[in-house]
Amino acid sequence: MISLNKIKEKLKRFYHLRILKKKYYRLGKCAQCGCCCENIYVRHHGKVIQNEEEFEKIKKSDNYSFYKHISIIKKDDFGLVFSCDKFDKEKRLCKDHKNRPSICKNYPSEEIFSFGAQLQDKCGYRFEAIIPFCEVLEKIKKIK
Ligand code: SF4
Ligand code: SF4
Repeated sequence: MISLNKIKEKLKRFYHLRILKKKYYRLGKCAQCGCCCENIYVRHHGKVIQNEEEFEKIKKSDNYSFYKHISIIKKDDFGLVFSCDKFDKEKRLCKDHKNRPSICKNYPSEEIFSFGAQLQDKCGYRFEAIIPFCEVLEKIKKIK
């Protein structure tokens, strides 16, 4: 007979895969290192902002308040990297945590993988594939 734990696991898997349309479970918790407030990629219509000119245009056309509180610190292979002005560098805390935007509340999401980025080294979260690689391999073997 199938155990209660297995039923729970199956339901959890179904919910994440089919309802939330996720590929990974997000595990762990925020270690409050603050790294994600100092190294931010911003995606606009699915694409990481690439240059200052583009960012200025987006700021003018989009009233999203988050754009007013971030400053460009560098550019790397993925695009512009921003730091948030609301981040207290000494205390390593958000100065406006209660009113932080949804982009911050939902961080990290697996969408970061879609443009090749990774979690910060110090991040307390990690992602685990909902369908493990060995299971995928088994399915492929059966098809062959
Ligand atoms: S609003 Fe707060 S949580 Fe969001 S990036 Fe800025 S400092 Fe970090
Ligand atoms: S990088 Fe991860 S652990 Fe650090 S503040 Fe951001 S979410 Fe929390």
